[in-house]
Amino acid sequence: MTASVSWPGFDPIERPQPDKISTCIHCGLCLDKCPTYRTLGTEMDSPRGRIYLIKAVEEERLAMTPSFVEHMYLCLDCRACETACPSHVEFGDLMERARGQIERQIPRSRWERVLRRLVFAEFFPHPKRMEWLFKGLRLYERSGMRAFLHEHALLALLPKRLGEMEAMLPPLPPRSFTRSTAEVVKGQEPVTWRVGFFAGCVMNHLNADVHHASSRVLQRNGCDVWTAAQQVCCGALHMHAGEREQARELARRNIDAFEQQSADVIINNAAGCGAQLKTYGELLAEDPAYADRAHHFSARVQDIAEFLAQEPLRGPLGPVPKRVAYDDPCHLLHAQRVREQPRQLLQQIPELELAPFTDADFCCGAAGIYNLTQPEMSMRILERKIEHIQAAEPDVIATGNPGCMMQLRSGVQRAGLNIPVVHPIMLIDDAYQAGSLNSQTT
Ligand code: SF4
Ligand code: SF4
Repeated sequence: MTASVSWPGFDPIERPQPDKISTCIHCGLCLDKCPTYRTLGTEMDSPRGRIYLIKAVEEERLAMTPSFVEHMYLCLDCRACETACPSHVEFGDLMERARGQIERQIPRSRWERVLRRLVFAEFFPHPKRMEWLFKGLRLYERSGMRAFLHEHALLALLPKRLGEMEAMLPPLPPRSFTRSTAEVVKGQEPVTWRVGFFAGCVMNHLNADVHHASSRVLQRNGCDVWTAAQQVCCGALHMHAGEREQARELARRNIDAFEQQSADVIINNAAGCGAQLKTYGELLAEDPAYADRAHHFSARVQDIAEFLAQEPLRGPLGPVPKRVAYDDPCHLLHAQRVREQPRQLLQQIPELELAPFTDADFCCGAAGIYNLTQPEMSMRILERKIEHIQAAEPDVIATGNPGCMMQLRSGVQRAGLNIPVVHPIMLIDDAYQAGSLNSQTT
């Protein structure tokens, strides 16, 4: 961003709301739970300090200075402060509104504008373009070019950020999930639910295996699985980056898509997407054509762990003899308040042992695209996370968010460890496969 001037205070569009700001009683109970405060120890990089800054701009005692912008964007928007806060401050909403103000009012460099336009407007909202993008990446991988660059340490020749993004890319599945599944897949009898499945944008391509495992587990538990054909990106990245209008447009398109057929519940397996889908009601509250429909949509959204944990898993589940370190994704734990359900599900798997570790409820530093925009802070947070996980000596790390999976894989690799990182649903799917094998051999 242009960094030598200050800009005026907030404009009238979606200002951080004074009544929400004033719920902060300055007690400081959130400070120890804030990753940036714990790392830097500076008040302005704590939740309380950031609220103070937002309040000062709201009351026009402070302009939006470059330093204000920096403190807002160093926040991970992990919302750990919300869980810790006795006063129920809606910090995520305050932060996202403050960032919306920054994006509307503060000029970015030409390069940043081009990059943001490419990411937020030209690719993420367009499933066909995403399909082409990932086709290109698959070609890059299959042609041997990727292996060649890695073997000869040529990644260092790429621009730094691009090299970092490339290094985090997992091996790509041959096809996206939506291109390798039927629109409706029948569940095993007795069928009790018809679920709408949210496939997302990047995850649809990078983690098709996780989606297939999710679909199989849902089918085993009596669900017909409908993957709405017209669905698009949830808009979470847009929202965190202050692109609120684009996030609204994506919400409208998803609501339209999931109205094409009926579904009792809308299931997702990515914490960041789930948190965003659950806010559509609020996001479109002022839109007369969508307000009620958005509310109806959000009320049906559930994370896959939240949904499956309502009843014991249907058997037979076979053994998965592994020690599993389960790491809470922030947008599952803090934004959706889903903590026990993934653990409860994993504990139903025979011979699987949970390996608890310090600060499992602490951000891993992925935070959407934070690991790309704030790489230094992201790495400091990640290193501490990996140290805690390593101390628990797990065979596997499990976490329910694609960004966290990539971040933890990168941390494991940097630390020279050999611990696979998987989505918890993969372990449940493994247990079903082990259960089927057992029943065939007996
Ligand atoms: S959202 Fe996370 S990083 Fe931001 S202030 Fe709250 S706890 Fe700190
Ligand atoms: S955000 Fe909540 S926990 Fe943090 S200082 Fe304010 S009232 Fe206390």
